[in-house]
Amino acid sequence: MIYTPENYAIPDEANVSFIDNEEILSIIKNSIPEKNHVRDIIAKSLDKKRLSMFDTAILLNVEDEDLIEEIKSGARELKRKVYGDRIVLFAPLYIGNYCSNNCTYCGFKKSNKEIIRKTLLNNELKKEVQSLENNGHKRLILVFGEHQTYSPEFIADSVRTVYSVKVGNGEIRRVNINAAPQDIEGFKIIKDAGIGTFQIFQETYHRETYSNVHISGMKKNYDWRLTALDRAMESGIDDVGIGALFGLFDYKYDVLGLIRHVNHFEAVYNVGPHTISFPRIQYASEMNMNLKYEVSDKDFTKLVAILRLAVPYTGMILTARENANLRDEIMQFGVSQIDGGTNIELGGYSEDNKHLQNLNKEQFTINDNRSLNEIIHELLLSGYIPSFCTACYRMGRTGEHFMEFAVPGFVKKMCSPNAILTLAEYLEDYAPDSTKVLGYSLIQSKLTELEGEQNLNSLRIKLEKIKNGQRDLYF
Ligand code: SAM
Ligand code: SF4
Repeated sequence: MIYTPENYAIPDEANVSFIDNEEILSIIKNSIPEKNHVRDIIAKSLDKKRLSMFDTAILLNVEDEDLIEEIKSGARELKRKVYGDRIVLFAPLYIGNYCSNNCTYCGFKKSNKEIIRKTLLNNELKKEVQSLENNGHKRLILVFGEHQTYSPEFIADSVRTVYSVKVGNGEIRRVNINAAPQDIEGFKIIKDAGIGTFQIFQETYHRETYSNVHISGMKKNYDWRLTALDRAMESGIDDVGIGALFGLFDYKYDVLGLIRHVNHFEAVYNVGPHTISFPRIQYASEMNMNLKYEVSDKDFTKLVAILRLAVPYTGMILTARENANLRDEIMQFGVSQIDGGTNIELGGYSEDNKHLQNLNKEQFTINDNRSLNEIIHELLLSGYIPSFCTACYRMGRTGEHFMEFAVPGFVKKMCSPNAILTLAEYLEDYAPDSTKVLGYSLIQSKLTELEGEQNLNSLRIKLEKIKNGQRDLYF
């Protein structure tokens, strides 16, 4: 059956995968971007309404430069209005690169004989975490290949080890995971170690392409991966991250796949995924593939803005795969989290020399080599509040992005003060003088903006306490 806007009906969930190839193709084909309609869709999003797949496809089909600018300024306005000026910072930490799959795009694929395989030993993991803490990090994502070595127990032990490392005032307060799909029991074991988000990217929602790029191993099974985060939810992990690897197939298709995946979560669990990631394929060791669907910077920027408008209350992650200039540009269109001081070599954070990538030890090329402090300094210069906040997660306020979005005043009452407090900790413990001066001057101007807020006095008192050596204060 060919779906059109007129005959569209939600497929019977019991019998059909929630990703329906015909549905997505026909929505792309039948969504004509008429100017006034595009403007209505942008206005709908600014009115804090979720966009439908048709709305999203109409935006994706816009080619007119002026209308693309309107989409981007809509996304910028939505971000500013809803989320304020905070950018949350984290670092990826690779634990092991053994892998039994053959994903054509990945340097860790089993068939790659050039890659130097390694799993961090417990003391090596501790050293990595010490280095990250000494730079000021509080939030990590642990990354694993898909291999029997990385059992749920192994992943859970790694999480516990990370939380146990404390250097000076340093500690990791939130550990997220990017690892292979588990069964429900496996997810439970990992959940019990106290994780934040469990991320699994579908890579591409297009089944045929998926099958062509995942040559062998467990990952070949599209449905096992597509349903992985449902099993995570059933295990009690209520904080999951979805993503697509852009460049494998038509970006419009995969944006709609992501939206359909969000819709599925909302329909079944009444809550969407916590985050969406949109990595773009970067060169990797032994990567011999045809990049026919490579996404240009222009389309990439457009698709990020459209995702922001389509799912206004989902966190959006932009990584150091992208270069610094593009990250700075795209951040304004709705990104809520970025990584900083990124090093994806196994054991790379604890090596002292300035990092030069060796693709025989790493998964892919990264293009933003700035240190955490360089990124923080530049964020401050642009008026952002760099944040290491983990308050909601630790207060059991799950679905924080939803609250930021939906609870009136939540950002001013909770998020901005918490961002300011974690920034002050960073300035006291890790920042060079120039960043410290800049940081406190930004804090001063943000305090002025919070004039009249109920929490302001309490925030000032907490800031004084931080200057006097107390840590981990939040609302
Ligand atoms: N092995 C697990 C898996 O495949 O789900 C862990 C994730 S893998 C180490 C992290 C993510 O990196 C993948 O899901 C994929 O989207 C992304 N990735 C792999 N190769 C890449 C490349 N060449 N360029 C950019 N991202 C890549
Ligand atoms: Fe292994 Fe993940 Fe790389 Fe695929 S993407 S080869 S599963 S590490």
